[in-house]
Amino acid sequence: MALIVQKFGGTSVGSTDKMKAVAERVLEKHKQGNQMVVVLSAMAGETDRLVGMARDMQKIPALREMDMLLSTGEQVTISLFAMAVKEAGYDAVSLLGDQVRIHTNSMHTKARIQEIDTKSIINHLNNNTIVTVAGFQGVNDEGDITTLGRGGSDTTAVALAAALKADTCEIYTDVEGVYTTDPNICSAARKIDRISYDEMLELASLGAKVLDIRSVGLAKRYKVPLHVRSTFSENEGTWVVEEDKIMESIVVSGVTYSKNEARITLNKVPDQPGVAAKIFLPISDAEIVVDMIIQNTRAGDLTDMTFTVPRNDYDRAMKLLQEIASDIHAESVTGAENIAKISIVGVGMRNHSGIASTMFHILAKEGINIMMISTSEIKVSCIVEEKYTELAVRALHDAFALDRENIPLSEDE
Ligand code: ADP
Ligand code: ASP
Ligand code: MG
Repeated sequence: MALIVQKFGGTSVGSTDKMKAVAERVLEKHKQGNQMVVVLSAMAGETDRLVGMARDMQKIPALREMDMLLSTGEQVTISLFAMAVKEAGYDAVSLLGDQVRIHTNSMHTKARIQEIDTKSIINHLNNNTIVTVAGFQGVNDEGDITTLGRGGSDTTAVALAAALKADTCEIYTDVEGVYTTDPNICSAARKIDRISYDEMLELASLGAKVLDIRSVGLAKRYKVPLHVRSTFSENEGTWVVEEDKIMESIVVSGVTYSKNEARITLNKVPDQPGVAAKIFLPISDAEIVVDMIIQNTRAGDLTDMTFTVPRNDYDRAMKLLQEIASDIHAESVTGAENIAKISIVGVGMRNHSGIASTMFHILAKEGINIMMISTSEIKVSCIVEEKYTELAVRALHDAFALDRENIPLSEDE
C-alpha cells in the first residue's frame, strides 16, 4: 500500500464530465489498496473570471478580500469531486485549507506555507476515505483565508506530499509532461523523461508554467520525486528528480519564454556612488521584484539604468520611478511592456563554452534584436521584442536540435 498525492489542474477538472473522469482515475489507484490525497485546482478559467470581477469592483482590489474571492474556485471542484467518488460507491471528504490546517503567513495573494497539520488527513485516510484538498489556499494566524499565488495548487500538492511523506506526488495536467519547450507554441517540442530539480527550477522561473516554481523548490528541499503527466492519457510523463550523470552530459535541455515582464530605463542618471541604492530600495520596499539590471556607461559622468519588472507591477513601478528620477536628477524614465524573455537552460552548460554566442548568432540570423542579456551557470536569457517570441523559441529549439533525443556522451568507462 502506498500513499499517493495527485494534483489535477484546471483543464483536468474543466467540466463535471471531466471531474467524473478524474474520480474514476483516482479510484483505479484507490481500489489497488493505495491511500489517496487529491489536490484540485479551480475549473479552467474560473480564477481569471474571479480576478476580472474583482477589478470591476475596485481598481486595486483589497488583498484580503481578493483571497476570500479567489479561494472559492477550488471549493467548487473539491466538493463536486467528492460527490462523484461517493456516487461510485466509495468514501471521500473535501477539505479547505483551513480545515486541513495549511498554515501560511499573511502575505495575501502570495502567502507562503509555514506548517501543515496532517492529523485530520491521516485520520480520514485510515478510515479508507479519499481526501480531496483545495489547492492554492491556506489560513493565516488570524484565521483569514490566504492564497499562494497563481498556479499555487502545484505547491499545495508538493507541500502535502512532503508533510505526509507520500510515496509519490503526481501532477496531472493538459500536456504529457515537461517538454523541451512549450508544446503549444512549438510542434517540435519533445517530452523530457527525467529532469533535475535545478533545471526544472530554472525552466519554471523562466516561464515554463507547467510547474509552479515554488512547488519545485519544495520538492527539491524535501526530496519529493515529482511525476508530471497527462490527465488525458496513460503515458508515462516526466520525472523531476535529483541530478544524475546522464543529465550533466546534456548541454541545453530546454527553451523557455516569458511575456510577464516589462522594461524600464532611467536615462542620464548622474553616475555617483549610492545611485543604484536610491533607485532600487524604494522599488523593493514596494515589493516589486526586479529581474535583469543593466547599467550602461555614457561619455561623461552620466549613466543609463535599464531593468525589468513583472508586467503586473509596471504601472506602479513607472509611477514610483517618476518620483525617483526627479529625486536623483535623472533626465527621464522610459519603458516598454511589449517585451519577452527568451531563455535556454541546461546543467551541461557549466562545462561547455560557446552556448551563449550560438544563441546570439541564431537570434541575429532571424533578424531579432537583443535588448538585454543575462546569464547564470545553467541558463542564458535575452530580452527581445514580444512579437518575436514564437520565432525565437522555434529557431533556438531547432538550432540546439532539441527535437532529437540527446545521446549522452561520457569520457568515463
Ligand atoms: P494546469 O492547469 O494543469 O496547472 P498549466 O496551464 O498551469 O496547467 O500548465 C500547463 C501548460 O504549461 C501547458 O499547457 C503548456 O502550454 C505550458 N508549458 C509551458 N512550457 C512548457 C514546457 N516546457 N513543457 C510543458 N508545458 C509547458
Ligand atoms: N486556480 C489557481 C490559478 O488559476 C491555482 C492553480 O490552478 O494552481 O492560478
Ligand atoms: Mg498550473
